[in-house]
Amino acid sequence: GWRSRAAFKLIELDDRFHLIKPGMRVVDLGAAPGGWTQVIVKRGASRVVGVDLLPVDPVAGADVIEGDFTDPEMAGRLIGMLDGKADLVLSDMAPNTTGHSATDHIRIIGLAEEALHFAFDILAEGGGFVAKVFQGGAERAMLDTLKQAFSLVRHAKPPASRKDSSELYVVATGFRPDRLKKPE
Ligand code: SAM
Repeated sequence: GWRSRAAFKLIELDDRFHLIKPGMRVVDLGAAPGGWTQVIVKRGASRVVGVDLLPVDPVAGADVIEGDFTDPEMAGRLIGMLDGKADLVLSDMAPNTTGHSATDHIRIIGLAEEALHFAFDILAEGGGFVAKVFQGGAERAMLDTLKQAFSLVRHAKPPASRKDSSELYVVATGFRPDRLKKPE
């Protein structure tokens, strides 16, 4: 069985967007308790690493790291474990909520933006990025960056996501590293 109800959200996203393909290298950010990691392995990815602040029980066919994805050593460590850059970076991360919706919104967008910049460091050309965002979807600035760096950017609310939650996922495919503005 799946370890989380969240697993069904990834199943639905993948049925719709065909993100996970056999042989892929995939990073799962915010992996605990491991439902998405199980789905990624089941769908044929060949190298899978899940990262979470919380411990994740071992998942056959995947590696798990207990740690913060913003750790400066994380990108290099992941590329080493995957034996190359990632084809897909998925983030189901959520910050601790405060109950104050404006604050929670800012925090989730901040986390998604950090995940995006992390993905820029570890994604192979042509790769994909999926992240949980809230309410109206990615903010303007993040959406502009996504549209610049990926050939296709969409939003989706999988049916398994509760109707009364404002959670949405941004799904970006076709990473074009050459399109990223280099810092001056
Ligand atoms: N997709 C998972 C599954 O199917 O089992 C559920 C993920 S849960 C909704 C979100 C996770 O994000 C939490 O376990 C939390 O610890 C993790 N998280 C939040 N901030 C993080 C960070 N900076 N680094 C790593 N994990 C983080």
